[in-house]
Amino acid sequence: MTGLDGRDGAQGRHGDHAPDRPLDPHLWPSGTVVGPDGAVSIGGVDLRALAAEHGTPAYVLDEADFRRRARSFREAFGAAFAAIGTQVDVYYAGKAFLSTAVARWATEEGLHIDTATGGELAVALRAGVPGARIGLHGNNKSDAEIRRALEAGVGRIVLDSLLEVDRVAGAAAAAGVRAPVMVRVTTGVHAGGHEYISTAHEDQKFGLSIAGGQAQEALEAVLARPELELVGIHSHIGSQILDASGFAVAARRILELRARLAERTGYLVGEVDLGGGYGIAYLPGEVPLDPARVAGPMADAVATVCAELGTPVPRVSIEPGRAVVGPTTVTVYTVGTVKPVLVEDGEEVVGDGSAPGAFTRTYVSVDGGMSDNLRPALYGARYSAALVNREGVAQGVRARVVGKHCESGDVVVHDALLPADVRTGDLLAVPATGAYGRSMASNYNLVPRPPVIAVRDGATRVLVRRETEEDLLALDVG
Ligand SMILES: *Cc1c(COP(=O)(O)O)cnc(C)c1O
Repeated sequence: MTGLDGRDGAQGRHGDHAPDRPLDPHLWPSGTVVGPDGAVSIGGVDLRALAAEHGTPAYVLDEADFRRRARSFREAFGAAFAAIGTQVDVYYAGKAFLSTAVARWATEEGLHIDTATGGELAVALRAGVPGARIGLHGNNKSDAEIRRALEAGVGRIVLDSLLEVDRVAGAAAAAGVRAPVMVRVTTGVHAGGHEYISTAHEDQKFGLSIAGGQAQEALEAVLARPELELVGIHSHIGSQILDASGFAVAARRILELRARLAERTGYLVGEVDLGGGYGIAYLPGEVPLDPARVAGPMADAVATVCAELGTPVPRVSIEPGRAVVGPTTVTVYTVGTVKPVLVEDGEEVVGDGSAPGAFTRTYVSVDGGMSDNLRPALYGARYSAALVNREGVAQGVRARVVGKHCESGDVVVHDALLPADVRTGDLLAVPATGAYGRSMASNYNLVPRPPVIAVRDGATRVLVRRETEEDLLALDVG
């Protein structure tokens, strides 16, 4: 191997920090255990053994953690909304990660499934999820997707434009069914990260504006079509939300719209969907949004506004994706090249007060990258990494974990604190990759996509197998 020994790279100015041990429980699946020799196991499975059997990179998903998170949403929100006299349905947002096994687990834990494309719908149906427990989203649904959803008897199609009112009504008429629909509205609340902003108008592709009047127009258009049954008003305010107050503001605007519609038409919409976006921890020290602490205030906000408006409390639904699956999964990589790189200026120097200047950064290349985790390249998302096959020396080195792709932006972990002796052949795991990891994976550089392997009670189960070069070649028919 040509990889340089990591010790050459340990002379950086941050060599005195200790690596992230013990592992932050907010970041790692609940079944994560660090053994006496420093090796990490999840769900009773030693990651060294898993890597030896299944290869790397691999997404390792803790089934018990997934089920626990799904259950905790259902229980926390169920209890909070029961206290204000109504019911909650929790829709797992399948776009975060969907396979037939995961769809079944979510269903067994009492969740419904949100889909946004024909592919997601096909996986949910193949899993045996009853159509009535599936929702279909999308700002540009195809005719085939709408037809398929109606054939499957989905519980709701979420309309995203005035055009879709006619299209879904037409498809329902052709199929001889009455389509249950929601109307997706924009409340002017944008959330994501630590803050939210609240404006009147939104410059983005989803939904129909409350402030601009299109939401009201679409709702009345639905009511005018006998082929459509208006079951709800829907809003999704953003993703990776850590400040829950945006949900209450959005809920107020939707409930006011609902009351106005009832006044004008006499039709009281039965359900309000407040969307997903519950934030998780990606870096050590970050605190995720705890469903148990969000549910109560959300229910109180709904009850308060309904009391003010003099309208009955609606049934409610929510759509968490990331918060159900994100923290359940780690990506395990094998370290290849380790390369010290002299960095000329000190722009990356953090917090220790040392003067800026040249320092050495250790670039640790792994056997995956932006093809299995697009989020750093797409959003500048930050992750952490830990050595999982052994303890490593106590001295840490500031490293950047990079992939094997032909892009300098192919970064997995921008700023990783790793043992200074990290070396070729080591296993690194990046936690919190369960959401928007495999689901956004690509074949860039014709790299086959990694498998998703569930671990539980000491056993592994392949949920999605590793892609092979044969799979890639099978598509190449020219
Ligand atoms: C993406 C999305 C979700 C899930 O968002 P998370 O941040 O994963 O919780 C829910 N609802 C809709 C409509 C979405 O587009």
